[in-house]
Amino acid sequence: MYVLALDESGTHSGAPVLLLAGLAVHEADVRLLEQALHGVLTQHLTPLGLDADQYELHAKELKTPSRGRPARPPYPATQPSEWVGVPSAVRLAILSDVHTAITTLAPTDPAYPPRIFGAVIDRSHPRYGPVKAADAYAYEHVLHRFDEMLGRLNATAPSHQRGVIIHDRRQQHERRIQEQTRIWQRKGAGLDSLLQVPLFIDSRASRLIQAADLVAYALWRHYQPTSDQTHSTGLWPLVDTNDRGELSGLIHITAKFRQCPCPPCVSRTAI
Ligand SMILES: [Zn+2]
Repeated sequence: MYVLALDESGTHSGAPVLLLAGLAVHEADVRLLEQALHGVLTQHLTPLGLDADQYELHAKELKTPSRGRPARPPYPATQPSEWVGVPSAVRLAILSDVHTAITTLAPTDPAYPPRIFGAVIDRSHPRYGPVKAADAYAYEHVLHRFDEMLGRLNATAPSHQRGVIIHDRRQQHERRIQEQTRIWQRKGAGLDSLLQVPLFIDSRASRLIQAADLVAYALWRHYQPTSDQTHSTGLWPLVDTNDRGELSGLIHITAKFRQCPCPPCVSRTAI
């Protein structure tokens, strides 16, 4: 079984893109990945006398930890991030090292490597840009490509591999995800290898959910108007690739995809 942890960004108005992305890991490697990520935290935090178990890997907080704010009705007060007290050099070293841990993870069985799936939709796109259409398209793409990869593996795998989707329980999008789920359950006939129920898990309890956050944030930064490619560059080799050499696991929906220099667009236009 493969577990695909997903994360979403850009649902707020004014965001240049809507992004749904995540990391699929074979069940045999879930613990391996968790241990690798936890090991990075231990290596950097233990010398400071800090307990790695208390720290959640959240890319935005590693870069700029939230200092919390007092209550402003109707919004309740927010607590400062646990990362506030950690020096910036340590936080950035952790961010860099956890990315390395993800991109260099050696799977237990090389036939089942970790894979990235995602959809990035320019909000200015006339047809797919509006948030509801973008959301629906993004889910459809990701679920079908994940299913497609499982189908490809199952054509030769000795045992049938299924897929399950997991999400962060604390994300505000839960209701929208449920809505999408109902839609793909109705159309589910084409998704042969997926468990038809997404699981919602507290990100604090799952380093795999945290890995999805890291992947989604790195890609989100890549697709900003001032593209930051610091952590996206290492991720492209993990994007699922079809038999034609397209980075089919990740799609960028943009009106100008023939001119777009991003690797998924280039892989499609090069054929
Ligand atoms: Zn592109």
